[in-house]
Amino acid sequence: MVRFRGFQGALLFSRTNAYLSFLLIFLIVVFGIPCFAQTAQNPARLDVDLSDAPRHIFHAKLTLPVSAGALTLVYPKWIPGEHSPTGPIGDLVGLKISGGGREIPWRRDDVDMFAFHVDVPKSVNSLELSYDYVSPAENDRMREPPSSTAKLAILNWYMVTLYPQGPKTDDLVYVATLRLPPGWKYGTALPVAKDSGDVIEFAPVPLTTVIDSPVIAGACLRDIDLSPGETPPHTVHAVADGPAPLQATPTEVQHLRQLVAETGALFGARHYRRYDFLLTLSDRMPPDGVEHHESSDDRTEENYFLDSGLFERSELLSHEFTHSWNGKYRRPAGLATPDYQTPMKGDLLWVYEGLTQYYGVMLAARAGMMPMTIFREYLASTAAYLNDRPGRTWRDLQDTATAAQILYSLPPEWGSWRRSIDYYDEGTLVWLEADTIIRKKSGDKKSLDDFCRSFYGGANTPPKVVPYTFDDVVTALNQIQSYDWRGFFTTRLESHGPGAPLEGLDNSGWKLAFTDVQNEYEHIAEVADQEVELQFSLGLLLHAPGGEDGDHILDVIPNSPAAKAGLAPGMRVVAVNGRRWNPDMLRDAIARAKNSTEPIELLAQNGDFYQTYKLDYHGGERYPHLEPLNGKTDLLSEIAKMKAAAVPLPKTD
Ligand SMILES: [Zn+2]
Repeated sequence: MVRFRGFQGALLFSRTNAYLSFLLIFLIVVFGIPCFAQTAQNPARLDVDLSDAPRHIFHAKLTLPVSAGALTLVYPKWIPGEHSPTGPIGDLVGLKISGGGREIPWRRDDVDMFAFHVDVPKSVNSLELSYDYVSPAENDRMREPPSSTAKLAILNWYMVTLYPQGPKTDDLVYVATLRLPPGWKYGTALPVAKDSGDVIEFAPVPLTTVIDSPVIAGACLRDIDLSPGETPPHTVHAVADGPAPLQATPTEVQHLRQLVAETGALFGARHYRRYDFLLTLSDRMPPDGVEHHESSDDRTEENYFLDSGLFERSELLSHEFTHSWNGKYRRPAGLATPDYQTPMKGDLLWVYEGLTQYYGVMLAARAGMMPMTIFREYLASTAAYLNDRPGRTWRDLQDTATAAQILYSLPPEWGSWRRSIDYYDEGTLVWLEADTIIRKKSGDKKSLDDFCRSFYGGANTPPKVVPYTFDDVVTALNQIQSYDWRGFFTTRLESHGPGAPLEGLDNSGWKLAFTDVQNEYEHIAEVADQEVELQFSLGLLLHAPGGEDGDHILDVIPNSPAAKAGLAPGMRVVAVNGRRWNPDMLRDAIARAKNSTEPIELLAQNGDFYQTYKLDYHGGERYPHLEPLNGKTDLLSEIAKMKAAAVPLPKTD
């Protein structure tokens, strides 16, 4: 059962650690077995040089206090926020180790590729390690995303860190320093001890804090104060390949400030000393976001501030910010690991990511970042694609969370049959339903916001981790509103359909409906992602960047007209009804077929072969929207309306 998995894991985890700690102390006392020696008085020193970041190579030197004997050093494997063993070990190059003025040989473990064995000579009490991290220059789904362009860089310390195997990373003290290319500026939540202009030296902190505090840097960087004169400070550090994309409008700044105010109204407490949005605006990097306690690594389109459509459809900043409470402060027991080598368990990601997805869009709506029209279109699009997803028949929602570590890097091909990390979007539907149940049962006296305030709020604290189990979530919800929450979530997690859980929409006064007008949220996404969404008519999703070689089918929904005609992901559409294809022509063909009995003919290339596929479809274009339910209150607008005092429009920005 789901509720026992995390709980038993937590018990096993603490017992194992206790045994290991005892064994370690015993070995040290009796045999003088060496181990780490980093303490606040004698910290490790990690010097990182980003001078060559424009060439996509990060240089590092690590000075590590040690004692004589066998030592195992490890490179971070399980990356927080990525929920997967994605540490880019293949891109760690040039490793040399020396001590006492001599080079010391190292040997990689023959099973664990992330571990290096060293014999420290008797007279040596400090090792010097030098190595490089080589960042991909272009996006490659199977590798770490690019970390630099010619004009900017994002330093995630795990890419350039080795540490002794064994102790908790909370107990290892590191002093990091950083050298940047001349003229570059930076932003980070990592406390700075001194900044000489050439080199930034950070304060001694646990290795966990270093890894949790990436640095953004670039030739063009702009700071935007989101809580002027208030404590703790909130700042956007935006970098781009040039100055133009950094020009946020006063309205956008107002919305971002309102977002900070809305999180205060929702949670009632903050668990950070400062909060820094490290915002990369570059089309050279794939859109991405990774959460941290006191910051987030937010990567989005270069025109995020310049194209209101991109700003309005994005819940990136509100999502990652929400994680400071849900994911970093409160964390599922299976994800609260003591170091970066212990495997993570994703079974409660439907809370960690699902509730964050719900509040990510909800807070964006409350802050005015996402207009209500777009918010409803987002919900319609989400509900429709999940409702139509045949993968549900073999894989339940729980399995998408449990299997998270293998799902993030998989391609969209066959995605509707495979299912993906659906605990994000389906989490939105499930938590919306939970919200409406609390409101209904309490006679509108309570809501899911009360659960958030109770579970994630409390007193203001610096960063810390308070783990939770399934039972804790059920208990906390029952304290807000008595209900069979265990049964509710178990049903939602283990259901095989048919269809997605749409009761939350119904309870909030809306229903899913289809028209021939494109969904506005999907349309903005289509343009940004160069996709053509015909899932609800032909059963096709296409990638269409416009080039001869780039266009291809991303997915074909099983049992759809496209599937019945024989089309499959990976094929290239060449022509529609005998004429070279483009997205508008295909949409036009679908519309015309509505008044015809003739099939739509697609000429497609499958490897070296061409074939005409006949799609017997006459239902016209179909795109999802929300329609109000007659006689029902519009609870959705009530949930999404501004809760904090309105922040004024900045005078100049
Ligand atoms: Zn997330």
